[in-house]
Amino acid sequence: MANFKTEILHKHKCLKARITEITTPHGKFITPAFMPVATRAYINQLTPEQIKRTNSQIILGGNTYHMLVSPGMEVIKNNNGMHNFMNWHKPMLTDSGGFQVFSLSKNKKICKINDQGAKFKHPTSGKIIELNPKISIETQKIIGADIIMAFDQCTPDTEDERLVKQAMMRTENWLEQSVETHQKQPETPYGYKQALFGIIQGGNIRELREQCSKHVCSLDFDGIAIGGESIGFNMPKTKEIINWVRPLLPENKTRYTMGVGATPQDLIDDSAEGIDIYDCVAPTRNARHGALYCGEFVFSDDWLSFKSLNHNNNNNKNPTILIKKAQYKLDQDPIMPGCDCYTCTNYTRSYIHYLFKTQAPAYYPLACEHNIYVMQKACDNMRDIIKKHDN
Ligand SMILES: [Zn+2]
Repeated sequence: MANFKTEILHKHKCLKARITEITTPHGKFITPAFMPVATRAYINQLTPEQIKRTNSQIILGGNTYHMLVSPGMEVIKNNNGMHNFMNWHKPMLTDSGGFQVFSLSKNKKICKINDQGAKFKHPTSGKIIELNPKISIETQKIIGADIIMAFDQCTPDTEDERLVKQAMMRTENWLEQSVETHQKQPETPYGYKQALFGIIQGGNIRELREQCSKHVCSLDFDGIAIGGESIGFNMPKTKEIINWVRPLLPENKTRYTMGVGATPQDLIDDSAEGIDIYDCVAPTRNARHGALYCGEFVFSDDWLSFKSLNHNNNNNKNPTILIKKAQYKLDQDPIMPGCDCYTCTNYTRSYIHYLFKTQAPAYYPLACEHNIYVMQKACDNMRDIIKKHDN
């Protein structure tokens, strides 16, 4: 099986956007690429066949913390890894559990964290889960994803420099321990090498972001992620942080912003700054709540945007329709006119509205497939325009 490799194919002549080809043991994919999230080893409401129909090339599969809770490593190993377990035989990235340390540590009864790592008590089963760099990397070996993440402490969106610095110092130590564990055994138990990505923390403080970038780049990672609570959640701040760190990043390594992709426009804005891959649960979560992307991709001279179909409302950064609204009861249009996804090709708003109102299980896969498809369409369109404006 092939080893991990990143190759730059095209660079936009005015923007930082680029197209890269990434080779993994489970095939190649072309960036910019959005990764749908299968935190618990399934993408909500979608089978792997349906995910393929959205033109997704890579998924984020089986988060370390969740997989330790259930089904446990014995089951994953017995299935010869997550690709076989999920029946997804294309590229896959998994997460180190660092984000769960962050979100669960807000409740001291559930998670205790110190310089060595974190200890969780699972809220319902009472199962004790320990995570540190060594356990995280060893677990990700068993999961068997093509790309694994160094164990980090996600930094809160705060101006408290002491807190941010503490998380960053911990992250720096944990990254070194992650690299050490990975280098001792770069292969999975299934016989192929994994790529390890480092994570830049440092909150919203420029000096700390820069310091952390230099540290991450000094270690031998295959790709570089930018993490933290602000990333994806606050897009103007995300853009600012990318601009601080990008000059320090090597050109030939994959760049990943963790948690970006609440809207198609967020992907477009992120890739204009030179980011290759991203993941976000928002497209499927929005779909479940009845918020369905509905806009059009508008091409300017050298870039594009995702705009509302209602031209009086073009300041709206997130063009969606709320399918529960009575105005869709008789509507014969597809969810998004012009969309050629499976749902829009075959069903009307009237039918999707009826499914949503009656809480029919059939609603969820149709809605999720459309929302993920639109995210991938944004990536497709970006690849087209970058090729046209290659320098
Ligand atoms: Zn559609």
